[in-house]
Amino acid sequence: MKPVARLLQRWLPRLWRSPQPLPAALWRDTLRQHPFLSKLTAAEQTRLQQLCGHFLLEKEFHGAHGLRVTDAMALSIAAQACLPLLHIAGPTDRRPRNPMDALDWYDDFVGIVVQPGAAVAMRETTDAAGVVHRYREVLAGEAMDRGPVMLSWEDVAQAGLAASSGSNVVIHEFVHKMDMRGMQAGDSPDGAPAISQGLWGTARSTQARQHWRRTMSEAYSQFREALTLAERFGGERPWLDSYAAKDPAEFFAVTCEAYFVNRERFTVECPTLLSLYDGFFRAHRP
Ligand SMILES: [Zn+2]
Repeated sequence: MKPVARLLQRWLPRLWRSPQPLPAALWRDTLRQHPFLSKLTAAEQTRLQQLCGHFLLEKEFHGAHGLRVTDAMALSIAAQACLPLLHIAGPTDRRPRNPMDALDWYDDFVGIVVQPGAAVAMRETTDAAGVVHRYREVLAGEAMDRGPVMLSWEDVAQAGLAASSGSNVVIHEFVHKMDMRGMQAGDSPDGAPAISQGLWGTARSTQARQHWRRTMSEAYSQFREALTLAERFGGERPWLDSYAAKDPAEFFAVTCEAYFVNRERFTVECPTLLSLYDGFFRAHRP
């Protein structure tokens, strides 16, 4: 789509936009390369395709360090980023609802920066004694509140293979975005995205939020305990990446990766989270 036509489309309310159809061969390749996408039903794939069309219209890709982001790369990222939105309603209980409201979960940013490989970020923390520690952190991706998402293409390209271990960098960063949505500036995500309706049989959103916090907190404690047993006493290592033990936000992001790309194993490993996430991500949408 020409830049002017694209700008005009973006200016329209989403309901009136008409994204360009995705090239059929490119879409087929994208599905084939990601086992968790090829397993979707025909109706789900059609819905994902529609979400991707709007996503590609709304977002801007930037290749870092001379990387050229091809259509295939952008579509691969779009399809994985839109997977968590497949069945969910928008983040706010808006009426009338629009079938594409789910994309509002990602409405606080436009840019997606694609690095050729992992990026190195300088970090700084201050300990209890007031001593400042500076260190380098290697990142496969990063989501910034009200800012862009950064992804390492080297890691994104491994998505098909990584699914067996329940890993997916795109889903990780985009569920961080869902977690951050509606957050006060300066706050940190806490593994509890906005819930605007009664879910899991509760009548009100406040009860649904309580249910979320209780279930997540129990699952997080159990995971940390299992990890400690494995690391200190030689117990069996949990299936999920140990990074999930960092804090509740990372626990949410890491468990969502597994939920979306390897549901079979996730069902066995995290049964309480399976019904929690089914209730949240599969909540009624228009
Ligand atoms: Zn993270």
